[in-house]
Amino acid sequence: MTKVHNFSAGPCILPQEVLKQASEAVVNFNELDLSLIEISHRSKDFVEVMENARSLVKELLNIPDGYQVVFLQGGASLGFLMAAYNFLSEGETAAYINTGAWAGKAIKEAQRIGNVNVVASSEDKNFNYIPKGFGIPSDAKYLHFTSNNTIFGTQFKKYPISRIPLLCDMSSDIFSKEIEVNKFDLIYAGAQKNMGPAGTTLYIVKESALGKTGNDIPTMLDLRTHIKKDSMFNTPPVFPIFVSMLTLQWLKKNGGVKWIQSINEQKAKTLYDEIDRNPLFEGVTEKEDRSTMNATFVLKDDQQKETFDEMWKAANISGINGHRSVGGYRASMYNALPLESVQALVDVMKELERTKG
Ligand SMILES: *Cc1c(COP(=O)(O)O)cnc(C)c1O
Repeated sequence: MTKVHNFSAGPCILPQEVLKQASEAVVNFNELDLSLIEISHRSKDFVEVMENARSLVKELLNIPDGYQVVFLQGGASLGFLMAAYNFLSEGETAAYINTGAWAGKAIKEAQRIGNVNVVASSEDKNFNYIPKGFGIPSDAKYLHFTSNNTIFGTQFKKYPISRIPLLCDMSSDIFSKEIEVNKFDLIYAGAQKNMGPAGTTLYIVKESALGKTGNDIPTMLDLRTHIKKDSMFNTPPVFPIFVSMLTLQWLKKNGGVKWIQSINEQKAKTLYDEIDRNPLFEGVTEKEDRSTMNATFVLKDDQQKETFDEMWKAANISGINGHRSVGGYRASMYNALPLESVQALVDVMKELERTKG
């Protein structure tokens, strides 16, 4: 098989060895002569998977006592609603930072539950920067933000300093760098950006912060339901949880979040240095807010698009077309993407300069 450099924004690249282990378990799991996906989720073998997955999350992110880790369904898109349901009630106000499409969707769901005060937004420049220096109202129930803006390519390098609880959608940069979990009441993330296949969503929640809204929360949307049942209230998505566990094992074995953080920084620097150096290209976002996960850039002269597109496709590069709301290109450099793939893209950019510059 030729090696494809997979820059997909999500679902994203996973380690080859994880895919191999996962495919074997689909046929014969733990030498049971049964598939992972055809055994009871209450069997000892699967309960072990769930426990391993949850404890790896705790270990890799250094999660302090008092926090619960659950794996649910519904994607981060349901997380937008669950965050509000579990932390906000009618008549109360929550503060939100609007840094793009996902943040906007989170705002829309919260408006179903209570009032939303958008305390900062970068909409005026098509979300190409992270707002700074805004006030946070002390009477709001919480401040919600999106740590990494997958579509626009911006990322919070410093988290807001807040007296009110912080809630964060970390779908596209969780496990990419060290974080201080104790700064948050809730972190949630769809698996398919940096952890596993689509189909499960990770929630990390400060347990003492739950149960304060007085809301009559539908059973499945109440985080306490799932905490009480160790993520087994109903049938969990066994395959995505299993593959997430394998990815987290891969991360741990190689040196954990600290290890991947330095590689991610190296990858991002390699690509952004070329975007800045190469006279044919330019970055889309403010430099200081550039995402290490999703780099957005454009060709200065659109007439070179056809040639460039042919060249990167010929180099076995996949998935770098930009989102339609930004245009240009987006190279997503999630944990499993090797540095050599970034180097392959940079080589094509240099080659374009040699032929067209
Ligand atoms: C992809 C993404 C989502 C949506 O996730 P789903 O699991 O598809 O619902 C939400 N937020 C961010 C930051 C994302 O990158």
